[in-house]
This record gives sequence, structure tokens and C-alpha cells, in this order.
Amino acid sequence: ELHNVLMELRGNIRVHCRLRPLMEFDCGNEDLASLGRQGTKSEVVVHPVDDENLCVRTHKQNKVFEYERVYNPSESQEMLFEEVQPMLTSLLDGYNICIMAYGQTGSGKTHTMLGSHRDDEYSPSQDPHPDEGVIPRATRELFRLIEEKTPGSHAVEVSVVEIYNNDIRDLLSKDPNAKHDVVTGADGSLNFPTIICKPVDTVYNVMCLVQRGLRTRRESATMVHEHSSRSHLVVTLTVVSQAPSFFSLPRTTSTETLNLDGGKKGRGATLTHSQTWSGDQMAGMLQQTPPAPATPTVRTKLQLVDLAGSECVGMSGVKGVALREASYINKSLSALADVLGALAEHRGHVPYRNARLTHFLQDSIGGDAKLLVLLCVSPAQRYVTESLQCLGFGQRAR
Ligand code: ADP
Ligand code: MG
Repeated sequence: ELHNVLMELRGNIRVHCRLRPLMEFDCGNEDLASLGRQGTKSEVVVHPVDDENLCVRTHKQNKVFEYERVYNPSESQEMLFEEVQPMLTSLLDGYNICIMAYGQTGSGKTHTMLGSHRDDEYSPSQDPHPDEGVIPRATRELFRLIEEKTPGSHAVEVSVVEIYNNDIRDLLSKDPNAKHDVVTGADGSLNFPTIICKPVDTVYNVMCLVQRGLRTRRESATMVHEHSSRSHLVVTLTVVSQAPSFFSLPRTTSTETLNLDGGKKGRGATLTHSQTWSGDQMAGMLQQTPPAPATPTVRTKLQLVDLAGSECVGMSGVKGVALREASYINKSLSALADVLGALAEHRGHVPYRNARLTHFLQDSIGGDAKLLVLLCVSPAQRYVTESLQCLGFGQRAR
């Protein structure tokens, strides 16, 4: 498995940066026609240098930032996904995966993760929209790989949650305000037994559920502001697969960690026994061929995250709900920075529990899990402070 060796060499945390094109709202006036498509020199301060470097040029400074990959404004969704695609192979090899978009509001996180085309464009028959983002593309690739490798041997479930003011809100639930407990398995894996996980087997299935979740998020009465940037959105795809090579092993009744490859890889995956199938899946399986009792299963997770806006919300002059939101966003993003810092420095203690965000993502960040941070940056002078903050966040995580 050459690609796994290569991934290993590149480390478990990778940081890419996507520079988006200059938009009308970057210029402080809505009349872009007078500027031309590229904008004027003074308006653009972040410039791509090559595939791995970009530079921030102002009258005060000229600073170069290096990442594993820099996408320039003309690089398409498809080009970005080419870099993401190998992670899906790792997922089926037993690694947990997390892909997250970080950046200020308006920097292109949602464009990158979901796409900018209209939501209602998913239909079972249509060709993929060229503008679709990482979530639909990763989902399509996952189902394609399952079909190619071992059709029928994997089940996939999806959950859609947001983390708002340090609470997990299940966006597929009729009661999104209900509280959710974390249950830690014997092997240290996290379970959220009350969060709804829907069995899915097509991109269309998944995207309908994501759209439903986004509708619930929009309709939420608790949020008074541009709410999509006030909370973190997490779409989790769980792949449940049978582990044929373990049929012959002595069976235990407790949860245990499956080592897929004689000690080298896959330690992030969890081996449990057949009670982990959901009721629906069990019913589906029984209609076909009844599974042997206590067939071991492996669960791996793909977590796709559209983070809340990283702009520093001034605390002065902000009151009530807005102040509460701002302080929770600041706390959760700095908890994320602390976790990535601890991992980058190989510190023994990683403070996952300081925020619900990092706790919820614990299984897919650190250990053998593979994390890709997509920094999203506007090229505009207007946001240079926020862009420098974002670029700095990415450098510290490496
Ligand atoms: P965020 O989710 O970070 O707040 P959005 O993804 O909503 O930002 O992007 C803000 C605007 O910029 C949207 O209109 C989006 O379509 C556009 N945009 C962002 N990134 C790109 C890109 N790479 N190419 C073209 N348009 C983009
Ligand atoms: Mg957004």
C-alpha cells in the first residue's frame, strides 16, 4: 500500500491553504464592475507563490507562509478534491479521517466543504455539479471505493450535528435542542448513543440528510445572527464493515481495538461485535443472508467540518446572545488550536475535553487518525488581520 506509506511519511496532520478569488464584498463597495475581475493592487494583499507557498504583502510587511499545498484562486473544486481523495482510501483501510475548513466568515469554508450551487440540485439522476464541494465528493468517492473493493460488505451511516455555544445539536432530530451524552467505550473510543445515525447508500441519500440538517439549522430560533457562521457544522460518515480475517479469532464479548495490519496501521479503527448494527441495518441484513452470530465489525469515521467563522469578534459593545456566541466560538477555536499544538509537539496530554468541538472530534484527530485542515483565505486588504490570524493558526498546527 504505497499511498499509505506516503501518507505516513507526510504525517497525520496536514494543512492546506485555499486562496479564494476577490469578491465584490471584499472591496467595501458592491460595484465590482468598476474594478475589473482581478481587483486593484492595493485591494489584493495575499498572493499565491507556488504550490506550497503564499505571501502576504502590505506596506508594513512581506511574509511568506508554507503549507503542504496552496490552492490559488483559479483552482477548481475538482483540483482540490484530487488532493483529498487518497484520504478516502485510508478510511477504508481502517483509519479515522477528519477534514475541516478553517477561516473567517466569507473566506470560502462552505464553498469548499459543500459548494456554492443551489441546495436543491441533488437528484438521484443528475450528473455531479462541477461546483460541488468536499462533502458530496468525498461521499461519492466512498461509495465508489466500496463498490469497487468489496461490494455489499460495508454499511454507511450519517449524522449531521452542529456545535453551538458548546452544545451538540442533532440536526436530524425532531428536537435539536436535546442534550447528548458521550459514552466512552472500553477501548477509549467515543460513542454518542443519542445522536441519530441514518443508514445511507447513495450520495443522494447523504446530501438529502445534509440539506435537511442545514434547514433545521437555519430555522433554529436560538440564533439571531448569520447563524451559519456562529456554529460548527459536523457531518460524520461512519463506515461499518465486517472483518473477514477475524472470523477465525477467538471471540470476546467486550469491545476491543482491531489492529488491521500486524501493528503497522489501522489502530484507530474499532472492532466490535454484531450488536453494533443499528436496528434498520439488522433488519436489512436479515432479509438477505443472516449474519453469523457475533461476526466482528470494524467502524471507521469520516468527519467533515465547516467551522464557525474565525474572525476575532470584539467583545466590547457586544451584548447578550452575540456575546455568548462570540465567547464560545473563541473558546472552541482556541481549544482546537491547543489540541493541534499538543499533537504537533507530541505532548503526552492532548486537551480534547476543553471544548465540545474537540471532544466530539477526538476520535478523528490525533492518534492514527488523519486530519486535513483546509485554511480558507480572502486575498483582500480589507481582511488582512483575519487572514494573518488564519495563516498563523495553520502554521502552528504543523
Ligand atoms: P464562509 O463559509 O467561509 O463564510 P462562503 O463559502 O460562503 O464563506 O464564501 C463566501 C462567498 O465567496 C460565497 O459567495 C462563495 O460562493 C464565494 N467563494 C468562496 N470561495 C470561492 C472560490 N474558491 N471560488 C469562487 N467563489 C468562492
Ligand atoms: Mg459558511
